[in-house]
Amino acid sequence: MIQLGHMATGILASRHVSSPVAAALSGVVMHGMMDVAPHGEINDRGWEVASVALAVPILAMAWGWRSPVVWGAIGGVLPDAEHLLPAKVRDRGPLFPTHRIDALHSSDTRLAIPAWAQVALGGAVIGWFTARGWRRRSRGA
Ligand SMILES: [Zn+2]
Repeated sequence: MIQLGHMATGILASRHVSSPVAAALSGVVMHGMMDVAPHGEINDRGWEVASVALAVPILAMAWGWRSPVVWGAIGGVLPDAEHLLPAKVRDRGPLFPTHRIDALHSSDTRLAIPAWAQVALGGAVIGWFTARGWRRRSRGA
């Protein structure tokens, strides 16, 4: 699954908890669940890193760094940070359990959530929550 999708599901999961730590953990759990769902990939590390590097600070500006919304998004992408570890570490094999099962990340995209849909839906969820955070801020909440 692409990072916009992981951030979006982490954000949605964070709505049921009140602490940043619980939000991050629920984001990690959602990451595993979304890896199990058949999904397309973008396979562009630059796009993936840029989407996280932009979305997380934007969410933090809207909600504040201690918000569960922000930490749900971070928890949602955290397991994939292992793809950025040095090759020496990556060569030992994936660390996150769902990354160890190749069939979950196959190139067979029949019945899968296409990458474009993850971009559209993930972007919509992140945009909606960003707007909602700004509205809360402007009301002084
Ligand atoms: Zn993953």
